[in-house]
Amino acid sequence: MRPKFIAGNWKMNTTRVEAAQLASAVASRVAEHDRLTVAVCPPFPYLEAVGNAIEGSKVALGAQNLYSEPSGAYTGEVSGPMLVDLGCRFCIVGHSERRHILGETDAIIHRKIKAALAVGLIPIVCVGELLPERDAGQTMDVVASQLSSAIAGLSEAEAGQLVLAYEPVWAIGTGRNATPEQAEEVHSHIRKILADRYNAILAGKTVIQYGGSVKAANADSLLLQPNVDGALVGGASLQADEFLAIVAAGLRVINR
Ligand code: PEP
Repeated sequence: MRPKFIAGNWKMNTTRVEAAQLASAVASRVAEHDRLTVAVCPPFPYLEAVGNAIEGSKVALGAQNLYSEPSGAYTGEVSGPMLVDLGCRFCIVGHSERRHILGETDAIIHRKIKAALAVGLIPIVCVGELLPERDAGQTMDVVASQLSSAIAGLSEAEAGQLVLAYEPVWAIGTGRNATPEQAEEVHSHIRKILADRYNAILAGKTVIQYGGSVKAANADSLLLQPNVDGALVGGASLQADEFLAIVAAGLRVINR
């Protein structure tokens, strides 16, 4: 059975002190579990403070982005080796806010995935449709196209490292989550794409998170879906109690 993976994407929020306090509060209440992974992804400037706050705990550190080159004249960018140096295990790649606000293309996202893999960072690769695309019945095509571009040319060993996150853009930060059935439909579509492109074993092992207005109140029903292996949590990850309640939902589903 696949593990559950709950990750908090703090986006461009918190002060340094708030980040350390939030991380400590989460770390103090997450216990070791062989089938549950928990990570927090603070803003770049607070990675070190958060890394110190969670040191020795069962909570892993993730970044929200990286640049596709390992070093050089790229003013303002942050590289994979720097993130590894700071203790990151995960890196979100292709979040919809980067696609749609910062203008990242499928090609850029693909390069970032390769850069993350090259240094041993586990990319959390986000895919998801806009509301007009869902309304036009294009969800499966959009997700397939984003995913195909993300994994283009990746070996089975490389693809086997990826975590995927289905994040319908209309559900992110809106309070309107996908229904469990909508999430399950897309997640099983994603798994089929992986099975067709690689094989059933790889597809069966790949962790696919759902993201989009996950909170304590809807986490159980989403995580109960057979192909929903975790959650990428934005707003609700900024409150320790709420985030920990989502982690608890993950544990409940594992222990059913
Ligand atoms: C996200 O940032 O990936 C996200 C899903 O945000 P929210 O939970 O706030 O919708």
